[in-house]
Amino acid sequence: MLVDAHCHLTGSYLAEGQETAALLARAREAGVSGFIAVGTDLEDSRAVLELARKTPQVRASLGVHPHEASSWTEETEAALDALIADPAVRFVGETGLDFHYNHSPRAIQEEVFRAQIRLAKKHRKPLMIHTRSAPSDTLRVLREEGAEGAQGMIHCFSEDKAFAEAALDLGFCLSFSGIVTFKTAETIREVARWAPEDRILVETDAPFLAPVPMRGKANEPGFVRFTAERVAELRGLAPARLAELTTRNLEALCGWSPSS
Ligand SMILES: [Zn+2]
Ligand SMILES: [Zn+2]
Repeated sequence: MLVDAHCHLTGSYLAEGQETAALLARAREAGVSGFIAVGTDLEDSRAVLELARKTPQVRASLGVHPHEASSWTEETEAALDALIADPAVRFVGETGLDFHYNHSPRAIQEEVFRAQIRLAKKHRKPLMIHTRSAPSDTLRVLREEGAEGAQGMIHCFSEDKAFAEAALDLGFCLSFSGIVTFKTAETIREVARWAPEDRILVETDAPFLAPVPMRGKANEPGFVRFTAERVAELRGLAPARLAELTTRNLEALCGWSPSS
């Protein structure tokens, strides 16, 4: 039994002709039975929560992505605060910093990241962290806001071992995506080999980053098995054992597993 710890299943994230129920059915056939669906702005977060409320195998992560940080207002904060209280919501985010694309100004990204860390602490729900080209600033903000009081996961882990050690010190889990199967990702594979077994997760970040051998296609939650197989191989574990570990780790982090 595998869980996809981070995927996008709503609205504009669905490829043309894709339908959430069919994606989830195919994933179940591939042995993937639980899904953390992630919202990236207020409207998408509402859609994710609606999906999670009617789908027992889907739980929600609600927040405003750093790309969308410019959309944040006091009203966004108040609305998210209310939505996050729902028991189907298990994470706050995705939130963090993306200094690669800079779709929102850096100062605004940081401010909106801080606000979501405060929401996570208030609701005692873990954080879903997106970080790209901003490792030291991400760690600084997490420390300054006392994020170890919320904990969470670094989604789509793509940093080095030093960053991994710092994130683990803050109590965070590391979630490996299809990147771990890419030819050039030796630094990430090194972390996937070494990370403590009680702190690792696997995810797709569908529809992005399809793992080898599906690279180039629209990613979907069922493909998490290719990433899980690669991480298992790197660690010298049977795929079933890796599935068991990552499902248990997700449950320890957010209090939910598809069988609970
Ligand atoms: Zn992300
Ligand atoms: Zn994402």
